Amino acid sequence: MNKYKILLWLMTVAIICTMEACSEDEEPDMSTSVITVEKGESNAFDNYLDLIYRETYNINFMYRFEDIESDMDYQLVPALYENSVKMANLVKYLCLDAYEEVAPDGFLEKYFPKMIMLVGSPAYNNNGTIVLGTAEGGLKITLYNINNLDVTNVDVLYEYYFRTIFHEFSHILHQTKDYSTDFDKISSTDYVGGAWNDAWDNSSSLEAGFISDYSSKEENEDFVELIAHYITTSPDDWNAILEQAGEDGSDILNQKMAIIKSYLLQSWEIDIDKLRDAILDRAEKLAEQDLDNITIE
Ligand SMILES: [Zn+2]
Repeated sequence: MNKYKILLWLMTVAIICTMEACSEDEEPDMSTSVITVEKGESNAFDNYLDLIYRETYNINFMYRFEDIESDMDYQLVPALYENSVKMANLVKYLCLDAYEEVAPDGFLEKYFPKMIMLVGSPAYNNNGTIVLGTAEGGLKITLYNINNLDVTNVDVLYEYYFRTIFHEFSHILHQTKDYSTDFDKISSTDYVGGAWNDAWDNSSSLEAGFISDYSSKEENEDFVELIAHYITTSPDDWNAILEQAGEDGSDILNQKMAIIKSYLLQSWEIDIDKLRDAILDRAEKLAEQDLDNITIE
């Protein structure tokens, strides 16, 4: 393994690890606004965030250093202004607007996580891994390493930022409306709990019917990991994954996806294939987007 690959591997491990912080126990109280508006000097970007994020979706998009309120274990660096602008435009373009195309009116306003916080640096763990994203109870998502944001590589954007967002958002959905217990039965004897990180050293989680190692932790993680991966993977690449999973693995993945598709349609009026198309179409046109400037229409 060359240095770059090792770094990538460490990052991959880390982004999954941090999802352990997900708290699935309590249903979030979506009726109470968690936003407090601070008085201070606001610039054009603040006004944009106020209008596009807060007024439209009740989302508090935090990028200033004073917003870094948690994780004092880490030495954190604030997000660069220019990269914060890019990320705000990106989240709107690749996530919010994609859901808007396919979801019923009022869906995002009601259910999307209420806080997105940007941090410039990665957070380094003692074991040398890097934290790229964390979420607290599905309500607040922190995206790290914003100062190394590369908007030209969609796969990296998916892996380091957007799958975290889609993962957490999907937790809110199943915490609000349960999915069928038939899903739990498919891999019931194969979930490994906290051992997910070591459990697949000598075997393939994919061949066991898990889209990622982290999926094998428990049912809810499996459920949201599948959604996050499916909507960020082209049909061709998905078929390649199924092939790689082998006969048994692909059979399990197909069974799980069938339940997810019907759940999203029945419970949320969302066609997951249309959502995937919306995201992938947007990703394809990403280079044409002006992510550097704030536009208030
Ligand atoms: Zn999770």
